[in-house]
Amino acid sequence: MSKNYRVLLFYKYQTIEDPDEFVTEHLEYCKSIGLKGRVLVGSEGINGTVSGTIEQTKKYMDYVHSLPGFEDVWFKEDLADNFAHKKMYVRHREEIVALNLEDDIDPHQITGQYLNPKEFHDALLDEDTIVLDTRNDYEYDLGHFKGAIRPEIRNFRELPNWVLENKDKFMEKRIVVYCTGGIRCEKFSGWMLREGFKDVGQLHGGIDTYGKDPEIKGDLWEGKMYVFDERISIPINHVNPSVVAKDYFDGKPCERYINCGNPECNEQIIASKLNEDKYLRGCSAECRRHPRNRYISENNLSTQEWEERLNAIGESLKNTHTA
Ligand SMILES: [Zn+2]
Repeated sequence: MSKNYRVLLFYKYQTIEDPDEFVTEHLEYCKSIGLKGRVLVGSEGINGTVSGTIEQTKKYMDYVHSLPGFEDVWFKEDLADNFAHKKMYVRHREEIVALNLEDDIDPHQITGQYLNPKEFHDALLDEDTIVLDTRNDYEYDLGHFKGAIRPEIRNFRELPNWVLENKDKFMEKRIVVYCTGGIRCEKFSGWMLREGFKDVGQLHGGIDTYGKDPEIKGDLWEGKMYVFDERISIPINHVNPSVVAKDYFDGKPCERYINCGNPECNEQIIASKLNEDKYLRGCSAECRRHPRNRYISENNLSTQEWEERLNAIGESLKNTHTA
């Protein structure tokens, strides 16, 4: 079966004189061709992921390549069954990936050594090299490179502090970093060099490029890669694919992401359909009995049914004790 849609992932650090004007024109163009996705624009450059038919995405790439300074933007392309986004957004942001450093990094001035998939693969096999995942913990949990360090962060902005707190573990070693499409590593690896880490490499083009390399084919990647669109995850390892993610409720292998049914929590958790039903899509007893739990309304459960389902797992709507 042929896939008629495509998802594009791209970025470029390139000075934009008037980001607001750029945003207006960019959004207008995207809408005119019916593209969907999210593009962030700053005076430092652009960062985006968009989806559309083969024809729409072809037009978009031609458009971006026609913009002065963006002639060489590298688009990572993935075929898809449908749009991977619901709407089209183009937004002005101070930083196209928020790292919030007090003293910002210009990747054109300082950045880690670029490694192609083969070189990165060699680094993964080298015992004296430390591999650091620069993504968030929930991205890591769905899939990561074998042996990579998992920083305890929920957001990229927290990474520099985490590294400083754990400096002793890897200050004197060779370090290689990686992320989804490469953009997070551009400033981050530059920041590491500025902090005094001596040997820092980055996976050029990110995990996405690594998975498509005709020779490496994603070898040494475990699980799937988390993506920030409707697809949620995509395969990377085409040599010996595996599942590393675990069900939040019973710890069994699982790759299904859901959001907690409590709209005030909304925590992203991995759970099978079976456990989603059993635990009423709630990540905690409090979320399961939350008055606005979306699972209850979507399934039209009566208060009595709700109570019975909670009783089945030893809980109650009237639960007064605090967990
Ligand atoms: Zn919750």
